[in-house]
Amino acid sequence: MEHAGSIHQWLPVEILIQIVSYVPEKRDIAKLCSVSTLLNSISLPFLYKSLNIDDESSKNWYLQLELFKILSIPRYSNIVTTVKLKFYGKYACNKKKNSFIGACTCKDYDDQIGGLLIGLINLQSLYFDCNLCGAEDHHSYLASLRSRQLQVLKFRCFCLKNNQDGVNKPGSTSLLTGLCMQTVTSLALMCSNRWLIDDTGTIENALQNPNAIPSLTTLEYSVTSASDARKFPNDFLAAIPIRGLHYHGIPLAAEASSPTQQTLEYIMSYDIMQWLPPIVTKHPHLYANLRSVGTITLRSSKEEDICSAESPGPLRGPAIVLTIPLETREGI
Ligand SMILES: [Zn+2]
Ligand SMILES: [Zn+2]
Repeated sequence: MEHAGSIHQWLPVEILIQIVSYVPEKRDIAKLCSVSTLLNSISLPFLYKSLNIDDESSKNWYLQLELFKILSIPRYSNIVTTVKLKFYGKYACNKKKNSFIGACTCKDYDDQIGGLLIGLINLQSLYFDCNLCGAEDHHSYLASLRSRQLQVLKFRCFCLKNNQDGVNKPGSTSLLTGLCMQTVTSLALMCSNRWLIDDTGTIENALQNPNAIPSLTTLEYSVTSASDARKFPNDFLAAIPIRGLHYHGIPLAAEASSPTQQTLEYIMSYDIMQWLPPIVTKHPHLYANLRSVGTITLRSSKEEDICSAESPGPLRGPAIVLTIPLETREGI
Protein backbone atom coordinates (compact mmCIF):
# COMPACT_ATOMS: atom_id res chain seq x y z
CA MET A 1 0.00 0.00 0.00
CA GLU A 2 2.93 2.28 0.65
CA HIS A 3 3.98 1.84 -2.97
CA ALA A 4 0.49 2.64 -4.21
CA GLY A 5 0.45 5.84 -2.21
CA SER A 6 3.84 6.89 -3.49
CA ILE A 7 2.99 6.04 -7.12
CA HIS A 8 -0.20 8.01 -6.91
CA GLN A 9 1.66 10.98 -5.46
CA TRP A 10 4.04 11.37 -8.36
CA LEU A 11 1.85 10.13 -11.21
CA PRO A 12 -1.83 10.87 -11.76
CA VAL A 13 -4.15 7.91 -12.33
CA GLU A 14 -4.74 8.91 -15.96
CA ILE A 15 -1.02 8.54 -16.69
CA LEU A 16 -0.87 5.20 -14.85
CA ILE A 17 -3.74 3.95 -17.03
CA GLN A 18 -1.82 5.02 -20.13
CA ILE A 19 1.31 3.22 -18.93
CA VAL A 20 -0.54 -0.02 -18.15
CA SER A 21 -2.25 0.13 -21.56
CA TYR A 22 1.18 -0.28 -23.18
CA VAL A 23 2.13 -3.43 -21.22
CA PRO A 24 2.00 -6.12 -23.94
CA GLU A 25 2.09 -9.35 -21.90
CA LYS A 26 -0.88 -10.41 -19.83
CA ARG A 27 1.38 -12.17 -17.35
CA ASP A 28 2.97 -8.78 -16.59
CA ILE A 29 -0.42 -7.14 -16.22
CA ALA A 30 -1.37 -9.93 -13.81
CA LYS A 31 1.70 -9.11 -11.72
CA LEU A 32 0.71 -5.44 -11.64
CA CYS A 33 -2.70 -6.50 -10.31
CA SER A 34 -1.06 -7.91 -7.21
CA VAL A 35 1.10 -4.82 -6.45
CA SER A 36 -1.54 -2.68 -4.77
CA THR A 37 -5.25 -1.96 -4.62
CA LEU A 38 -4.80 1.03 -6.91
CA LEU A 39 -2.80 -0.84 -9.53
CA ASN A 40 -5.22 -3.74 -9.27
CA SER A 41 -8.19 -1.55 -10.14
CA ILE A 42 -6.25 0.07 -13.00
CA SER A 43 -4.83 -3.16 -14.46
CA LEU A 44 -7.78 -5.53 -14.09
CA PRO A 45 -9.69 -4.23 -17.14
CA PHE A 46 -6.59 -4.70 -19.30
CA LEU A 47 -6.30 -8.28 -18.08
CA TYR A 48 -9.86 -9.35 -18.87
CA LYS A 49 -11.17 -6.93 -21.50
CA SER A 50 -10.06 -9.09 -24.42
CA LEU A 51 -9.69 -12.87 -24.12
CA ASN A 52 -8.02 -15.39 -26.41
CA ILE A 53 -9.21 -18.87 -25.60
CA ASP A 54 -7.86 -21.94 -27.38
CA ASP A 55 -6.87 -25.52 -26.72
CA GLU A 56 -3.85 -25.53 -29.00
CA SER A 57 -1.62 -26.90 -26.24
CA SER A 58 -2.20 -28.76 -23.00
CA LYS A 59 -0.75 -25.77 -21.15
CA ASN A 60 -3.32 -23.45 -22.71
CA TRP A 61 -6.05 -25.94 -21.90
CA TYR A 62 -5.26 -26.03 -18.16
CA LEU A 63 -4.85 -22.25 -17.99
CA GLN A 64 -8.18 -21.94 -19.72
CA LEU A 65 -9.91 -24.10 -17.11
CA GLU A 66 -8.58 -21.76 -14.41
CA LEU A 67 -9.77 -18.77 -16.40
CA PHE A 68 -13.28 -20.21 -16.67
CA LYS A 69 -13.42 -20.42 -12.86
CA ILE A 70 -12.35 -16.79 -12.47
CA LEU A 71 -14.82 -15.62 -15.07
CA SER A 72 -17.73 -17.20 -13.23
CA ILE A 73 -17.44 -14.17 -10.91
CA PRO A 74 -19.36 -11.14 -12.31
CA ARG A 75 -16.69 -8.68 -11.14
CA TYR A 76 -14.38 -10.21 -13.75
CA SER A 77 -16.81 -11.43 -16.40
CA ASN A 78 -18.42 -7.97 -16.66
CA ILE A 79 -15.09 -6.53 -17.84
CA VAL A 80 -14.93 -8.77 -20.92
CA THR A 81 -15.88 -7.12 -24.23
CA THR A 82 -13.98 -9.27 -26.76
CA VAL A 83 -13.58 -13.05 -26.95
CA LYS A 84 -11.58 -14.93 -29.56
CA LEU A 85 -12.39 -18.61 -29.29
CA LYS A 86 -10.51 -21.26 -31.18
CA PHE A 87 -11.72 -24.60 -29.95
CA TYR A 88 -10.85 -27.80 -31.66
CA GLY A 89 -11.26 -30.20 -28.74
CA LYS A 90 -7.58 -31.13 -29.00
CA TYR A 91 -7.13 -31.52 -25.25
CA ALA A 92 -10.76 -31.37 -24.16
CA CYS A 93 -12.11 -34.27 -26.24
CA ASN A 94 -11.02 -37.76 -25.17
CA LYS A 95 -11.55 -38.99 -28.72
CA LYS A 96 -9.13 -36.46 -30.21
CA LYS A 97 -6.71 -36.61 -27.30
CA ASN A 98 -6.37 -40.41 -27.40
CA SER A 99 -5.80 -40.72 -31.13
CA PHE A 100 -9.44 -41.35 -31.91
CA ILE A 101 -9.93 -44.35 -29.61
CA GLY A 102 -11.57 -42.56 -26.67
CA ALA A 103 -15.16 -41.36 -26.42
CA CYS A 104 -15.96 -37.89 -27.69
CA THR A 105 -16.27 -35.35 -24.87
CA CYS A 106 -16.70 -32.30 -27.10
CA LYS A 107 -20.22 -31.75 -25.79
CA ASP A 108 -18.93 -31.23 -22.23
CA TYR A 109 -16.31 -28.83 -23.50
CA ASP A 110 -18.85 -26.96 -25.58
CA ASP A 111 -21.15 -26.64 -22.55
CA GLN A 112 -18.25 -25.09 -20.59
CA ILE A 113 -17.71 -22.57 -23.38
CA GLY A 114 -21.44 -21.83 -23.36
CA GLY A 115 -21.45 -21.26 -19.58
CA LEU A 116 -18.63 -18.77 -20.05
CA LEU A 117 -20.24 -16.89 -22.96
CA ILE A 118 -23.68 -16.62 -21.40
CA GLY A 119 -22.14 -14.88 -18.37
CA LEU A 120 -20.49 -12.14 -20.47
CA ILE A 121 -23.17 -9.46 -20.40
CA ASN A 122 -20.92 -6.76 -21.90
CA LEU A 123 -19.60 -8.81 -24.80
CA GLN A 124 -19.18 -6.69 -27.94
CA SER A 125 -17.07 -8.87 -30.26
CA LEU A 126 -17.15 -12.65 -30.55
CA TYR A 127 -14.81 -14.54 -32.87
CA PHE A 128 -16.00 -18.12 -32.83
CA ASP A 129 -13.85 -20.76 -34.52
CA CYS A 130 -15.05 -24.33 -33.90
CA ASN A 131 -13.69 -27.58 -35.23
CA LEU A 132 -15.11 -29.96 -32.67
CA CYS A 133 -16.26 -33.48 -33.55
CA GLY A 134 -19.43 -33.55 -35.63
CA ALA A 135 -22.71 -33.34 -33.74
CA GLU A 136 -25.99 -31.50 -34.07
CA ASP A 137 -26.46 -30.39 -30.47
CA HIS A 138 -23.49 -28.04 -30.11
CA HIS A 139 -23.60 -24.26 -29.47
CA SER A 140 -27.30 -24.10 -28.51
CA TYR A 141 -26.28 -21.39 -25.98
CA LEU A 142 -25.67 -18.94 -28.84
CA ALA A 143 -29.43 -18.31 -28.98
CA SER A 144 -29.36 -17.33 -25.29
CA LEU A 145 -26.36 -15.00 -25.04
CA ARG A 146 -27.21 -12.26 -22.54
CA SER A 147 -25.12 -9.49 -24.05
CA ARG A 148 -27.20 -6.74 -25.65
CA GLN A 149 -24.09 -4.99 -26.94
CA LEU A 150 -22.80 -7.58 -29.39
CA GLN A 151 -21.65 -5.78 -32.53
CA VAL A 152 -19.22 -8.16 -34.19
CA LEU A 153 -19.82 -11.88 -34.68
CA LYS A 154 -17.50 -14.07 -36.68
CA PHE A 155 -18.95 -17.56 -36.74
CA ARG A 156 -16.83 -20.30 -38.26
CA CYS A 157 -18.00 -23.80 -37.43
CA PHE A 158 -17.31 -27.21 -38.90
CA CYS A 159 -18.98 -29.43 -36.30
CA LEU A 160 -22.34 -29.25 -38.07
CA LYS A 161 -22.04 -30.22 -41.70
CA ASN A 162 -24.73 -30.65 -44.29
CA ASN A 163 -23.94 -34.23 -45.14
CA GLN A 164 -23.09 -35.46 -41.68
CA ASP A 165 -24.12 -39.06 -40.96
CA GLY A 166 -27.35 -39.21 -39.03
CA VAL A 167 -27.59 -35.44 -38.79
CA ASN A 168 -29.92 -33.98 -41.31
CA LYS A 169 -32.46 -31.89 -39.48
CA PRO A 170 -32.12 -28.14 -39.11
CA GLY A 171 -32.48 -26.78 -35.60
CA SER A 172 -35.78 -25.22 -34.55
CA THR A 173 -34.22 -21.77 -34.30
CA SER A 174 -31.84 -19.88 -36.54
CA LEU A 175 -28.53 -18.45 -35.34
CA LEU A 176 -29.75 -15.18 -36.86
CA THR A 177 -32.75 -14.73 -34.59
CA GLY A 178 -31.24 -14.76 -31.09
CA LEU A 179 -31.91 -11.58 -29.07
CA CYS A 180 -28.19 -10.78 -29.05
CA MET A 181 -28.30 -10.49 -32.86
CA GLN A 182 -30.35 -7.30 -32.73
CA THR A 183 -27.25 -5.16 -32.22
CA VAL A 184 -24.83 -6.97 -34.54
CA THR A 185 -23.47 -4.64 -37.22
CA SER A 186 -20.71 -6.85 -38.63
CA LEU A 187 -21.31 -10.55 -39.28
CA ALA A 188 -19.03 -13.17 -40.81
CA LEU A 189 -20.55 -16.57 -41.53
CA MET A 190 -18.42 -19.54 -42.50
CA CYS A 191 -20.60 -22.53 -41.83
CA SER A 192 -23.38 -24.79 -43.06
CA ASN A 193 -26.65 -23.07 -43.94
CA ARG A 194 -28.31 -25.30 -41.35
CA TRP A 195 -27.15 -22.82 -38.71
CA LEU A 196 -29.20 -20.11 -40.38
CA ILE A 197 -32.48 -21.77 -41.28
CA ASP A 198 -35.23 -22.27 -38.72
CA ASP A 199 -37.97 -24.89 -38.71
CA THR A 200 -39.62 -23.19 -41.69
CA GLY A 201 -36.67 -24.44 -43.72
CA THR A 202 -35.35 -21.28 -45.39
CA ILE A 203 -32.95 -18.46 -44.52
CA GLU A 204 -35.42 -16.06 -46.14
CA ASN A 205 -38.07 -16.91 -43.54
CA ALA A 206 -35.59 -16.64 -40.65
CA LEU A 207 -34.68 -13.15 -41.85
CA GLN A 208 -38.32 -12.08 -41.54
CA ASN A 209 -37.96 -12.36 -37.76
CA PRO A 210 -37.66 -8.81 -36.31
CA ASN A 211 -34.70 -9.94 -34.17
CA ALA A 212 -32.76 -11.12 -37.21
CA ILE A 213 -29.75 -8.78 -37.57
CA PRO A 214 -31.71 -5.52 -38.11
CA SER A 215 -28.56 -3.40 -37.52
CA LEU A 216 -26.30 -5.27 -39.93
CA THR A 217 -24.15 -3.19 -42.27
CA THR A 218 -21.30 -5.56 -43.16
CA LEU A 219 -21.57 -9.22 -44.12
CA GLU A 220 -18.86 -11.75 -44.88
CA TYR A 221 -20.41 -14.84 -46.37
CA SER A 222 -19.21 -18.37 -47.04
CA VAL A 223 -22.19 -20.59 -46.32
CA THR A 224 -22.68 -24.04 -47.80
CA SER A 225 -26.08 -25.40 -48.76
CA ALA A 226 -27.38 -28.97 -48.56
CA SER A 227 -25.67 -29.72 -51.88
CA ASP A 228 -22.42 -28.21 -50.51
CA ALA A 229 -22.67 -25.31 -52.98
CA ARG A 230 -22.06 -21.70 -52.04
CA LYS A 231 -24.81 -19.24 -52.89
CA PHE A 232 -24.67 -15.46 -53.14
CA PRO A 233 -26.54 -13.95 -50.13
CA ASN A 234 -29.38 -12.34 -52.07
CA ASP A 235 -31.82 -13.20 -49.28
CA PHE A 236 -29.71 -11.13 -46.84
CA LEU A 237 -29.42 -8.23 -49.27
CA ALA A 238 -33.18 -8.29 -49.84
CA ALA A 239 -34.02 -8.23 -46.12
CA ILE A 240 -31.39 -5.80 -44.78
CA PRO A 241 -29.77 -2.69 -46.30
CA ILE A 242 -26.22 -4.10 -46.17
CA ARG A 243 -23.48 -1.68 -47.24
CA GLY A 244 -20.41 -3.94 -47.33
CA LEU A 245 -20.22 -7.51 -48.60
CA HIS A 246 -17.35 -9.99 -48.72
CA TYR A 247 -18.44 -13.03 -50.69
CA HIS A 248 -16.19 -16.08 -50.81
CA GLY A 249 -16.93 -17.10 -54.36
CA ILE A 250 -17.99 -15.90 -57.79
CA PRO A 251 -21.71 -15.14 -58.03
CA LEU A 252 -23.77 -16.28 -60.98
CA ALA A 253 -24.78 -13.44 -63.30
CA ALA A 254 -28.43 -13.84 -62.26
CA GLU A 255 -27.52 -13.62 -58.56
CA ALA A 256 -25.42 -10.51 -59.03
CA SER A 257 -28.08 -8.82 -61.17
CA SER A 258 -30.84 -8.81 -58.59
CA PRO A 259 -32.32 -5.43 -57.51
CA THR A 260 -31.13 -6.15 -53.95
CA GLN A 261 -27.61 -4.88 -54.68
CA GLN A 262 -28.63 -1.23 -54.59
CA THR A 263 -27.47 -0.54 -51.01
CA LEU A 264 -23.98 -1.96 -51.51
CA GLU A 265 -21.16 0.56 -51.10
CA TYR A 266 -18.33 -1.93 -51.35
CA ILE A 267 -18.07 -5.51 -52.45
CA MET A 268 -15.27 -8.06 -52.41
CA SER A 269 -15.28 -11.46 -54.03
CA TYR A 270 -13.16 -13.74 -56.14
CA ASP A 271 -12.31 -12.58 -59.62
CA ILE A 272 -14.45 -9.47 -59.27
CA MET A 273 -12.99 -7.62 -62.26
CA GLN A 274 -14.24 -10.40 -64.52
CA TRP A 275 -17.84 -10.72 -63.42
CA LEU A 276 -18.81 -7.26 -62.13
CA PRO A 277 -18.06 -4.84 -65.02
CA PRO A 278 -20.44 -6.51 -67.54
CA ILE A 279 -23.26 -6.40 -64.98
CA VAL A 280 -22.64 -2.76 -64.04
CA THR A 281 -22.51 -1.85 -67.73
CA LYS A 282 -25.82 -3.59 -68.37
CA HIS A 283 -27.63 -2.57 -65.15
CA PRO A 284 -25.91 0.57 -63.79
CA HIS A 285 -28.79 1.37 -61.39
CA LEU A 286 -28.23 -1.91 -59.48
CA TYR A 287 -24.85 -0.78 -58.17
CA ALA A 288 -25.63 2.94 -57.98
CA ASN A 289 -24.11 3.28 -54.49
CA LEU A 290 -20.99 1.19 -55.08
CA ARG A 291 -17.84 3.06 -54.08
CA SER A 292 -15.17 0.35 -53.69
CA VAL A 293 -14.49 -3.05 -55.11
CA GLY A 294 -12.00 -5.59 -53.88
CA THR A 295 -10.68 -8.99 -54.65
CA ILE A 296 -9.70 -11.87 -52.43
CA THR A 297 -6.30 -13.30 -53.23
CA LEU A 298 -5.82 -16.98 -52.63
CA ARG A 299 -2.50 -18.19 -51.25
CA SER A 300 -1.65 -19.57 -54.65
CA SER A 301 -1.71 -17.09 -57.50
CA LYS A 302 -2.44 -19.79 -60.07
CA GLU A 303 -5.63 -18.99 -61.89
CA GLU A 304 -6.67 -22.64 -62.10
CA ASP A 305 -6.70 -22.82 -58.29
CA ILE A 306 -9.25 -20.02 -58.18
CA CYS A 307 -11.41 -21.59 -60.89
CA SER A 308 -11.33 -25.11 -59.49
CA ALA A 309 -11.63 -24.17 -55.82
CA GLU A 310 -15.29 -25.02 -55.33
CA SER A 311 -14.77 -25.24 -51.57
CA PRO A 312 -11.70 -23.16 -50.87
CA GLY A 313 -12.60 -22.90 -47.18
CA PRO A 314 -12.83 -19.81 -45.05
CA LEU A 315 -10.15 -17.23 -45.61
CA ARG A 316 -8.41 -15.80 -42.69
CA GLY A 317 -8.88 -12.10 -42.57
CA PRO A 318 -8.26 -8.70 -43.96
CA ALA A 319 -4.53 -9.24 -44.53
CA ILE A 320 -5.33 -10.94 -47.82
CA VAL A 321 -8.11 -8.60 -48.84
CA LEU A 322 -7.55 -5.53 -50.96
CA THR A 323 -10.11 -2.85 -51.72
CA ILE A 324 -9.83 -0.33 -54.50
CA PRO A 325 -11.81 2.92 -54.13
CA LEU A 326 -13.69 3.78 -57.31
CA GLU A 327 -12.81 7.21 -58.60
CA THR A 328 -15.44 7.18 -61.28
CA ARG A 329 -18.11 4.78 -62.35
CA GLU A 330 -16.21 4.35 -65.59
CA GLY A 331 -13.37 2.98 -63.46
CA ILE A 332 -15.12 -0.34 -63.13
ZN1 LIG B 1 -15.02 -34.80 -29.73
ZN1 LIG C 1 -19.23 -26.04 -34.10
